[in-house]
Amino acid sequence: MEIIDGKLISLQIKDELKEKVSELKAQGKNASLAVIQVGNDPASSIYVKNKKKACEYIGIGSISYELSENTTEEKLLETIKELNQRKDVTGILVQLPLPKGIDEDKVILSIDPKKDVDGFHIANVGALCTGTKGFVSCTPAGVIQLLKRSNVQIQGKHCVVIGRSNIVGKPMALLMLKENATVTVCHSKTENLKEICKQADILIVAIGKPKFVNKDFIKEGAVVIDVGIHRDENNKMCGDVDFEDVKDHVSKITPVPGGVGPMTIAMLMNNCVEAIL
Ligand code: NAD
Repeated sequence: MEIIDGKLISLQIKDELKEKVSELKAQGKNASLAVIQVGNDPASSIYVKNKKKACEYIGIGSISYELSENTTEEKLLETIKELNQRKDVTGILVQLPLPKGIDEDKVILSIDPKKDVDGFHIANVGALCTGTKGFVSCTPAGVIQLLKRSNVQIQGKHCVVIGRSNIVGKPMALLMLKENATVTVCHSKTENLKEICKQADILIVAIGKPKFVNKDFIKEGAVVIDVGIHRDENNKMCGDVDFEDVKDHVSKITPVPGGVGPMTIAMLMNNCVEAIL
């Protein structure tokens, strides 16, 4: 069994981007990310801090907007409108979730698709569906990099994705299709889930349930990608896959932590750089 080291691969990507950013700077092209946080949800604050840290490492400018919990939807939309118009801002990210009373879909739709580095705007989702150029949601884009950089053959393989969220499951399935995999998408209403997963050469798990997938779901020698992030009963981080139970049955697997997690920010940085290309 081989561990797919997301920490190492994400660092390689960040270092490649760092070099690209310095080349682009020499040509007078500067990337700058505006990060908007509404309220002070502690998990969101950590994510925002890590995103700013990554920008600093790579040489991308970052501007933060820390808006109060009571900010109105109107005020938030106004802020985005200003950022859409600013030439010095090349990427805009609104940290989700937003406080109750603010319509997330409306907010995402208000971002200029050319600055939507999260890849959540329907124009970018549509581009992914039709195979045209656009920003791709960072977590699934990170999974593709993990597979490619670990020399996992995707073309022609049967990939089962568990989960159909707009942020992970759906774009993940579309990306695997683009890589010429045969793709099956499973979800909470899927019947015979274990049997279907057992057919997968590559199993990508994004369910949001700690240690849900055990060895009964795995074909001997499959590649397993665990997108889930949780704390177990001992406050230790774990994924949607029961790592200890499956590890002797897989050929390659991502650990939690240190698998998919670090890739999300690396791919966000990649999108920030693509925004100025
Ligand atoms: P979500 O709750 O939006 O979607 C979960 C999906 O799993 C749904 O489509 C649902 O149909 C499916 N599902 C739920 N129960 C199921 C069951 N019993 N059998 C089969 N399918 C089932 O979650 P999400 O936003 O897609 O995130 C999934 C997981 O990935 C979460 O643990 C989240 O924390 C994690 N996540 C990690 C990163 C990262 O950077 N590593 C990024 C985003 C999400």
